[in-house]
Amino acid sequence: MKPTIFERICAREIPANIVYEDEHIVAFRDLNPQAPTHVLVVPRRPIPRLSDATAADQALLGHLMLKAAEVARQLGLTGGYRLVVNCGPDAGESVPHLHCHVLGGRSLEWPPG
Ligand code: AMP
Repeated sequence: MKPTIFERICAREIPANIVYEDEHIVAFRDLNPQAPTHVLVVPRRPIPRLSDATAADQALLGHLMLKAAEVARQLGLTGGYRLVVNCGPDAGESVPHLHCHVLGGRSLEWPPG
């Protein structure tokens, strides 16, 4: 299968503003930021979306969440932040490679659109 754009970023085949990486995940700035700080945290393994994750992915997903919090801390989001995982067309998912948005740096409204 053709690699996703996020796989290509993880492999450093295309450029991105990477703020954190380790052997399991890569975090980089969103190209079209929706808040002053908008980072995507992406597993290197290309799980298409959350509904495709299985029990075998439990440790990876836990790692991703904890690192999202660490990245938020490192980027100084002391006032709070929001994690978003869009799953499927009704949620507006546009890249079929599981990722967690970290949004912060402004007051965020609820409910989302
Ligand atoms: P989603 O709509 O949840 O699938 O989010 C996909 C996100 O990926 C969007 O916020 C896009 O702006 C972002 N995006 C797409 N291509 C790139 C890229 N090459 N570098 C950084 N962010 C990207």
